[in-house]
Amino acid sequence: MKKAALTLLAALSIIACAEKTDNKEEAGSTEPTVDTTQVETQEEEEITDPKVTEVWDPEPAVVTFDKNGVPSDAEVLFNGKDLSAWKSTSDSIVNARWKVNSDGSMTVAPGTGPIQTKENFDSFQLHVEWQAPQKVEGEGQGRGNSGIFLQGLYEVQVLDSYDNRTYSNGQASSLYKQHIPLVNATKPTKEWQTYDIIFHEPKYDADGKTTRKGTVTVLHNGVLVQDNVELAGTTEYIGRPKVTPHEDGPIILQDHGNPVSFRNIWIRKLND
Ligand code: MG
Repeated sequence: MKKAALTLLAALSIIACAEKTDNKEEAGSTEPTVDTTQVETQEEEEITDPKVTEVWDPEPAVVTFDKNGVPSDAEVLFNGKDLSAWKSTSDSIVNARWKVNSDGSMTVAPGTGPIQTKENFDSFQLHVEWQAPQKVEGEGQGRGNSGIFLQGLYEVQVLDSYDNRTYSNGQASSLYKQHIPLVNATKPTKEWQTYDIIFHEPKYDADGKTTRKGTVTVLHNGVLVQDNVELAGTTEYIGRPKVTPHEDGPIILQDHGNPVSFRNIWIRKLND
C-alpha cells in the first residue's frame, strides 16, 4: 500500500511539473524548465582505502639502457659504425656519402648534399648528438649550420649559436623561422650538444584539411627550449610556411656546407 501511494504521489508530481513547464513555455520564459541537477549528480562515497585508487594494469614495459644510454625499445639510426640506415637525399639509389669517423661520429661532406633515413616515420621521439666544426669560422648562419628535418619538412635548426648572434628564429634549436627557442642552451663550440625531440605529426582529413597541427618539443642539452609548439607548415628559407597534406616521412640531415658532426642517433616511434 505504501509503495502504491508513493508511486501515485510521484506520478502526480510529474503531471504537476509538466503543467508548470507548459505554463512557463507559454509565458516565454528562457529559464531551464526542469532542474535535472539533483537527478544527475550522485554523491560519491568517500574513499578511505588507498588501494581503491591503485591501477595495476597495464604494467609499463621495462626499458633498459646500453652503454651509450640508448633505450632498449629505440631504433638506432646511427651507431657510429656505418651509414647503412641512410641514403643520399638527392639520389635515392646512392648511399649517404658523409664521412664516418674513427671516434664513432659522422661528419657532413660539404657539397654531397643532405642525407636521409631509408625508413619513414610518423610521430616519434628522436635523440641526436651534434658538434659544430672545431675550427670556428663564419658568422651567423654561416657558422656550424646544419639541420634536422622532421618528416623531411620541418627543420630543427643546428647551428653553432655559442656567442654567435643571428636572427632569433634561426638560431640553434629554433623551429626554423617559426619558433624562437625559449633560451639559448648552446654549449661552447668544442663540446657535443644533444637534442631530444618529441614530434607529433600533423593529421589531415580526406579533403586535405588539417585536423591536427604538428607539434614539436625540444630539449637542448637537457633544457626545454621548444615546449609543444605548433607547426604552421613547412619551415621555409624564403616565404611563409606551406601546408601540403602528407603521410610519414624521413629524418633528413642538412648539408649546409659546414662540416658539422653527428653521433648516437636513435628514435622511438610513438603511436598517436
Ligand atoms: Mg640549417
